[in-house]
Amino acid sequence: MSHSTLTIPFVDFSFQHQPIQAQLEQAIQEVMQRGDYVLGQALGEFERAFTQACGTAYGVGVASGTDAIALGLQACGIGLGDEVILPANTFVATLIGVLRSGAIPVFVDCDPQTALIDLNAAEKAITAHTRAIIPVHLYGQMVSPRHLLNLASTYDLLIFEDAAQAHLAEREGYRAGSVGIAAAFSFYPSKNLGAFGDGGMVVTQEEIVAETLRSLRNYGATRKYFHTDYGTNSRLDTLQAAVLKTKLPHLSGWNDDRYRIAQLYDRLLEPLADYGIVPIANQSGSGHVYHLYVIRTTEDCLSDRSELQTSLSNLGIQTGIHYPIPCHLQPAFQHLGYEIGSFPHAEALSQEILSLPMYPGLSESAIAQVVSALATLIGSSQSSRLVGSFSHLADQPSLILS
Ligand SMILES: *Cc1c(COP(=O)(O)O)cnc(C)c1O
Repeated sequence: MSHSTLTIPFVDFSFQHQPIQAQLEQAIQEVMQRGDYVLGQALGEFERAFTQACGTAYGVGVASGTDAIALGLQACGIGLGDEVILPANTFVATLIGVLRSGAIPVFVDCDPQTALIDLNAAEKAITAHTRAIIPVHLYGQMVSPRHLLNLASTYDLLIFEDAAQAHLAEREGYRAGSVGIAAAFSFYPSKNLGAFGDGGMVVTQEEIVAETLRSLRNYGATRKYFHTDYGTNSRLDTLQAAVLKTKLPHLSGWNDDRYRIAQLYDRLLEPLADYGIVPIANQSGSGHVYHLYVIRTTEDCLSDRSELQTSLSNLGIQTGIHYPIPCHLQPAFQHLGYEIGSFPHAEALSQEILSLPMYPGLSESAIAQVVSALATLIGSSQSSRLVGSFSHLADQPSLILS
């Protein structure tokens, strides 16, 4: 069958952008006509629209998600001498943000089933110097807001969410970004809401945090040429804001699509559990926005993860690893004093995880093709047969994108 020779990319933006190409071009042209490239009209409009979508009071656009973390922490008054708890298994930008704020990063391990920060481990890491905790809503699944808020109120900690992978995610009645004092989002192109370049935002319920951020991103100036804060240059470009504002109304539909894709993966992968292939657990139901769909090649899996990745690639199926080396083992951060064995779950996960193709518009036939390739590669003839019973999907065009 010809479908088996098709290449399946890890991400593909064309399904998002083609249907709204005319609107995107118009939004860009409007910025060109106004010429307000920095701190322009579309920035304010997008800030208001996104913050409303998050259920927060204020939003301040910055140049990247990394800056959103660094400047966001600074605006919350977190810095020198403060300890900030974060998971070892996050994208390195979470760590970079903490270090740039001047605070001391304190890593904790993760839950091996969900890959989310282990809040019991976090509780044990709290000292008299702990000011804040950064829950990373990894892969699109929120860290339990109830558990977080309990911890924060018991120990008088600030919660600063890294929501870079969790636009519009929900759990226990909370929306990502609305749990703590402030939250960082990234609009890197492949995020659930992506710009045509870099971008980020801090959302917050606190007016003073938002005001400080508006100054910090603009050379620390509260008015022109009057510098009250130790700031920098980190604005979200008006052009990027115009693109993001145009895409925002479609975000929730794209997230629904991701969820449906994940459910199909879940269903098709079920028989592979006996062969050691287990998806990262979803404990938040339909509030998971599946920035990534990640499986584990557990110790019961006879195939080695990197062999599996190479074989899939040879079959035209692109995958990723998020992330192959935990933060505490990265060469640049050895001075923090952690070593191999410090966080056994994060370290084991880094060896086991594999991110499968996931993007709005990914067809059911492509999903079936990915799972059937996996089943064949791990030597599960039984699984191949079971997946084969879904092979009718392979001959259908995409049923997913409406
Ligand atoms: C993408 C990402 C960031 C950083 O965002 P940039 O816009 O790339 O700087 C931070 N944290 C997490 C968890 C991310 O996935």
